[in-house]
Amino acid sequence: MADNHSASQRHNNMAAIHSKDTKPEMIVRKWLWNRGFRYRLTHRRLPGKPDLVLRKYRTCIFVNGCFWHGHMVEENGNPVACRFFKMPKTNQTFWQNKISRNQERDKEVQLKLAQMGWHCITIWECELKPARREATLLSLEYTLNHILLEDFKRLHPYSFDDSNLSFAAETER
Ligand SMILES: [Zn+2]
Repeated sequence: MADNHSASQRHNNMAAIHSKDTKPEMIVRKWLWNRGFRYRLTHRRLPGKPDLVLRKYRTCIFVNGCFWHGHMVEENGNPVACRFFKMPKTNQTFWQNKISRNQERDKEVQLKLAQMGWHCITIWECELKPARREATLLSLEYTLNHILLEDFKRLHPYSFDDSNLSFAAETER
């Protein structure tokens, strides 16, 4: 019995590793849901199959692993690999090519989505580590509200003035 249990536990662990519900994505989903944002998962008809789609905000969110998507950050003005993007010691050419292709594809997908009128937000795995998580999620919320406000202004160019600002922010919830 104990063995069966651990076998099924192992199976669950393996399934978790291969499923799309990776932990960083779950953090974002849970937070958005609790804050009242509604989304769809993996919209197959959209390029690049975004992890989360918020139709009301015309926004696609990608939660990217730093290694697979080759997360680059700026350090003293120079692009460097994020510290969670470490090349394995062996087969470096293979990995470098694979990650370069992923980076290229990410760029193409974002361009296509932008041409279709979608906003794209990429959240990196390292930005969801405990020390940075809250700031990342607050900034995500700020960006989403900003997007909605800008859309509102564009659709109602004459009715908009500063006195509507708090009103627009409130009805959004
Ligand atoms: Zn990173």
